[in-house]
Amino acid sequence: MKKVYLDNASTTQIRPEVVQEMTKVLSEDYGNPSSTHSFGRNAKSILELSRKAIAKQLNASAQEIIFTSCGTEANNWILRSAVKDLKVKRIITSKIEHHAVLYTVQALQKEFDIQVDYVAVKPNGEIDITDLVELLSQETKTLVSLMHVNNETGNLLDVDKVGRICEQYNALFHTDMVQSVGKTEIDLQHLPIDFMVASAHKFHGPKGIGFAYIKKNSGLQPLFYGGEQEKGLRPGTEAVHQIAGMAKALELSYANLETERNHISELKNYLIVQLEIEFPTFVINGTSDGIYTILNVLLPFAEDKTAMILFHLDMKGIAVSRGSACQSGSIKPSHVLAEMLSNEDLKKPSLRISFSHFNTKEDIDLLIFGLKSV
Ligand code: PLP
Repeated sequence: MKKVYLDNASTTQIRPEVVQEMTKVLSEDYGNPSSTHSFGRNAKSILELSRKAIAKQLNASAQEIIFTSCGTEANNWILRSAVKDLKVKRIITSKIEHHAVLYTVQALQKEFDIQVDYVAVKPNGEIDITDLVELLSQETKTLVSLMHVNNETGNLLDVDKVGRICEQYNALFHTDMVQSVGKTEIDLQHLPIDFMVASAHKFHGPKGIGFAYIKKNSGLQPLFYGGEQEKGLRPGTEAVHQIAGMAKALELSYANLETERNHISELKNYLIVQLEIEFPTFVINGTSDGIYTILNVLLPFAEDKTAMILFHLDMKGIAVSRGSACQSGSIKPSHVLAEMLSNEDLKKPSLRISFSHFNTKEDIDLLIFGLKSV
């Protein structure tokens, strides 16, 4: 049975060149980057070259890139230190953020008694910018946390516009770019962003490594203590092989961006056309100009198919994800779709199909074939 992986927003297949790079570093460059002997200096040099390479791809300066264990850690760090150290008294975010932001903000609200405001979300999942401006007109030290690409719908936020609005109202701007780094051009020198977060396993790199972009002189303090690594901002012996793998993955993502974007966009359009033919009343959850790697659709199936659809596709070797999480047999609607759909539509099956350059037209045909037999 041919297996079909269409769940690339969850995680991606690692590129063979990345495995090769990591294996080399693991077996040959095992020194501790903090050691002063030649083994350590060699590891340190790999670390700093990786940092430089990552910064270059995003037009940032190397000292603004801080390695973390993942996107979740970087989001936690930034939000917590903004409240604890930068004396942010209010966070404006949205109810469609990833839980790495949403649950952190809720925890901070309890712990520090900060004000939390949720910007309105339109039925197509777009952030209501007019509402954001209205919220920002209050005079409180504020941080705005809004993601660049929504991991469920693929909706894109105009981070340039939002950043400029934040600047105008003297608010800090944090954006989770986990779903966009490596998939779209990002110029941090020209974007009015204070903090951003990325994760290697979303762009064909290894799991367990990510980074934060921390704008110069931001005053951010570490989440934990114990060493001088990452200028004391993120202590702990650096995972050199992971970091080298992440740098390689990002380099390849941008070197191949145009070709891969074209290929994936074609697949996404092909899927939309096939859905129009086979399930003419299907609806796209999200805007029509979302990122090319994600398509979220509401299928015109009976409600009783909702619980079984993923299992059914999985039996056919097809991996996609539903816009909802299944917890101990009960179906809990996705917190993102819950902000967008009517109660009636929420009960019907929505699927998130997310692509990579490894996918082919045949994968789409197999998905459609699988859906027709549900
Ligand atoms: N933010 C977004 C938008 C994501 O999609 C994910 C991954 O699911 C994360 C954060 C968490 O990243 P990590 O798996 O590196 O902790």
